Amino acid sequence: MGYSGFRVIKEGLFGQKGWKPVWRDPEPKAEYDAIIIGGGGHGLSTAFHLAKEHGMTNIAVLEKGYIGGGNVGRNTTIVRANYFLPGNSEFYSHSLKLWETMEQDLNYNVMHSQRGLINLFHSDGQRDAFARRGNAMVNQGDDAILLDREGVREHLPYLDFDNVRFPIYGGLYHPRGGTARHDAVAWGYARGADQRGVDIIQNCEVTGIDIENGVVKGVQTSRGAIKAKKVAIVVAGRSGQVAEMAGMRLPIESHVLQAFVTEGLKPVIDHVVSFGMGHFYISQSDKGGLVFGGDIDFYASYASRGNLPMKEHVMDAAMTLMPMIGKAKVLRSWGGIMDMTPDGSPIIDRTQTEGLFIDCGWCYGGFKAVPGSGFSLAHLMATGNHHAPAAKFRLDRFRSGIGLMDEEGTGSQHNLH
Ligand SMILES: Cc1cc2nc3c(=O)[nH]c(=O)nc-3n(C[C@H](O)[C@H](O)[C@H](O)COP(=O)(O)OP(=O)(O)OC[C@H]3O[C@@H](n4cnc5c(N)ncnc54)[C@H](O)[C@@H]3O)c2cc1C
Repeated sequence: MGYSGFRVIKEGLFGQKGWKPVWRDPEPKAEYDAIIIGGGGHGLSTAFHLAKEHGMTNIAVLEKGYIGGGNVGRNTTIVRANYFLPGNSEFYSHSLKLWETMEQDLNYNVMHSQRGLINLFHSDGQRDAFARRGNAMVNQGDDAILLDREGVREHLPYLDFDNVRFPIYGGLYHPRGGTARHDAVAWGYARGADQRGVDIIQNCEVTGIDIENGVVKGVQTSRGAIKAKKVAIVVAGRSGQVAEMAGMRLPIESHVLQAFVTEGLKPVIDHVVSFGMGHFYISQSDKGGLVFGGDIDFYASYASRGNLPMKEHVMDAAMTLMPMIGKAKVLRSWGGIMDMTPDGSPIIDRTQTEGLFIDCGWCYGGFKAVPGSGFSLAHLMATGNHHAPAAKFRLDRFRSGIGLMDEEGTGSQHNLH
């Protein structure tokens, strides 16, 4: 079923009765060519790209809950390509290009809005670091403009520029950065994969991974055993637990990341803005709510809700940067489980088990990676070769120490990224 302006008018005139479910609800088959464990953004995007780019359609996505119930439906929707280090830089650049054609590729409105992202800086040293990052972005072929204080004021007049502790010196402007409607991305990929023959099986928890003589043979699930020649673990915050089913101990810690939304307000924040002196960032949703967040809670946890000290920390930063926000009422807060690597960069790789692949370690930045990650993992699974933009996301870098990509420069510690 396609979407068009004509279809919307026709359905409006005839009681909206012609719409059909956008993906089927199939029973699991006994065997598939490939199984993707996890129906989040990355799993669905992988299945879509396996079918679209490589003609593999005998595939199942196994999701223990419902599509969109994980981090793909919990994030603050920021999409950007403002990375500094080789490895990350080319990958996120490729992913942003896929965002720019996603709505046409999926024939689905994901409300991708390139409203621009501004990262603020508050000292001379920070200006130097951002200038360097901006140059790296431009060298990569992406866009970056270094704004001085008055340049920032033209875009964001409501900020507290003269805060005594953290005056604003300027900002790095990334015009192609922005937001998208998160759950529409999951639904769009689910629909696109289903249309190409992929079975999306919800309420199907993987409970074991079958391996014989070092070769993957299939999975055990809450709905029975399913055989497969290739299996990919794409379960974000649950990566450690699922990898353990294959006898692997991953270099991952799971931490909670919280987010907040206010009551709906008239348009006031046009861009995505991030504070340079505390982990706080904000944008305004199309419904009018101010959507914001900060740092991860610093202890390892599988709970999808966070603690009060982090809420206080985020609110403090919000009030420091834009005191006007104090008038808005916070409606909701929630949490998601982040798969944090020691260097803050992700993993897309084979494992020690033949036919078993892993895609994880997206930390708090994996939403923008959804198209790129699915494209690259599908490439690896179908061809056996790493896709060039993701070639540095190797698992063994944590054993050898060679090729670590510590974007934040904070050292090899999960909770600091
Ligand atoms: C509050 C918050 C804000 C964020 N903000 C941003 C942002 O602004 N920009 C950005 O780029 N990123 C952001 N992120 C990060 C981003 O959401 C994640 O990195 C990304 O969504 C993770 O990939 P995913 O979509 O595949 O994960 P998920 O949607 O979590 O998918 C994993 C799926 O695996 C399933 N699963 C787990 N175990 C099993 C099993 N045993 N069997 C079957 N299925 C299983 C889960 O149910 C889940 O649906 C944010 C995250 C949070 C929580």
